Amino acid sequence: MVSGALVTAAAAASPARAATGRDPDVLVIGAGLSGLGAALALEEAGLRVRVLEGRDRIGGRLYTLDDVPGHPEAGGNSVAGAYGRVIAAGKRYGVELDDIGLRAFGGGPPGLYIDGALVAPDAWARHPRNPFAGELKALPPGAWADALLKRNMPVKDPGRWWDPENAQHDISVYDFLTSLGASDAAIQLGFDTNISYGTTAHDVSLLMLASVEQWQVVNRNANARFIGAFRGGNQRLPEAMARQLKGDLLRGRRVVAITIRNDGAEVHCDDGSRHRAKAVVCSLPFATLRHVAIDPLPPAAQNTAIRTIGYVPITQVHIVPKRKFWESDEQNPSMWTDGIAGTVYAQRFGSDPKEVMSLTCWARGLDARYLDLLGAAAAGRAVVAELERLRPAAKGALEVAKVRSWGTDPFAAGVWSCYRPGQVVAFANELAKPHERLFFCGEHTALGSRGMEAALESAERAAVEVQIALG
Ligand SMILES: Cc1cc2nc3c(=O)[nH]c(=O)nc-3n(C[C@H](O)[C@H](O)[C@H](O)COP(=O)(O)OP(=O)(O)OC[C@H]3O[C@@H](n4cnc5c(N)ncnc54)[C@H](O)[C@@H]3O)c2cc1C
Repeated sequence: MVSGALVTAAAAASPARAATGRDPDVLVIGAGLSGLGAALALEEAGLRVRVLEGRDRIGGRLYTLDDVPGHPEAGGNSVAGAYGRVIAAGKRYGVELDDIGLRAFGGGPPGLYIDGALVAPDAWARHPRNPFAGELKALPPGAWADALLKRNMPVKDPGRWWDPENAQHDISVYDFLTSLGASDAAIQLGFDTNISYGTTAHDVSLLMLASVEQWQVVNRNANARFIGAFRGGNQRLPEAMARQLKGDLLRGRRVVAITIRNDGAEVHCDDGSRHRAKAVVCSLPFATLRHVAIDPLPPAAQNTAIRTIGYVPITQVHIVPKRKFWESDEQNPSMWTDGIAGTVYAQRFGSDPKEVMSLTCWARGLDARYLDLLGAAAAGRAVVAELERLRPAAKGALEVAKVRSWGTDPFAAGVWSCYRPGQVVAFANELAKPHERLFFCGEHTALGSRGMEAALESAERAAVEVQIALG
């Protein structure tokens, strides 16, 4: 049963109280960064707002594991130089931003593990499993696709990656890489393994990667050296924002239907509650919105976007090392592997750069799907067994603290949205359009930025759209 906790947003952590009786002007669905950003902007404009959140937790895809040593981020990790809105929000709501170096182990580049064995950096270029060509042979697998794409990205103005003029480039990354002469083996190891966008190179649009590359350039130009994280964990930012809300923030309210009328809209939750307002702002990832009934249906392109846009599966296994096995085998605790342990990040939370408090193993794409099929307990055991195989010195020293699947999380269904081939032209200019009294925000609806910054960019836009609509 959903808890149905009623929590005043005036203090997200304060005791529950009932929702105010009067209908608000605006209902905001989702208490992640974008929903909270939109709600605060609307309140600042003088509107009465109620936020409905499906989980018992605030923050959505910002999720700090306070119960795991090292306080790893299960969700959004880093804030870069061009995150103007996020940095401003931290200042405004009193959450300090630290250099991310304080949280990560400072022990040099991660070890490269291929086919179950450690490969020394200077041996990789001549390694029998190295499938790359020419000077790119010297690059570690995780850097190959990025380097090739940067050199050859055909989009003339990547700042307008979403422009229909780029239609001929809205093709799969696989098709593009093969057109450059890349072999299947190179694409499999250099793109599909530990993938960030898509589940394989076949289901991600080249224009999606143009947008990612553009955002990297913008961040480098703004401040190439800065990468930060909020003190005490990134979830502290949405929590601080929630404390500023004047209206209700109702947790445990999973929205199942939205009915739009001429003069407003009604939102139905799975605890049977119904909420009415003049307008609704929906921040749900489309992978979860596709399970919400919307009446009347959005226009065809937007509705198809809601049903089909891609989301990236990532499953993390958070492990506490009971002894410093990396001191025994004298290798970096952080790793890049071609197996189900994926990429392994050594985390710390203290002042000593040598103190590793937990290891976060990120399985992505098809490896994440495989772990999800095993279920959490078996997935944890499988990753520990894999690490013990790769690092015999770790035998008996690894304790699973948490398994976190974003792909199977019903409130996220993936880590971030990802346009499939053909979807940028079909949807990029359609998916955020207001649908009568229903407005959209969320990272997936932003065109100018990505990640946390995209969430706040979209919140600003949606709040302005609502104010214009309500006069
Ligand atoms: C593993 C991971 C790593 C990341 N790394 C970075 C990074 O380094 N830098 C960066 O900038 N970004 C990163 N991101 C992305 C960033 O965290 C997100 O872009 C941002 O937090 C999204 O905010 P949002 O408000 O759009 O969505 P969300 O935070 O997902 O908010 C949506 C809210 O809606 C709620 N909800 C869903 N369904 C329902 C329903 N039916 N009824 C009611 N409520 C519902 C959810 O519980 C959630 O609270 C990462 C994300 C993940 C998962």
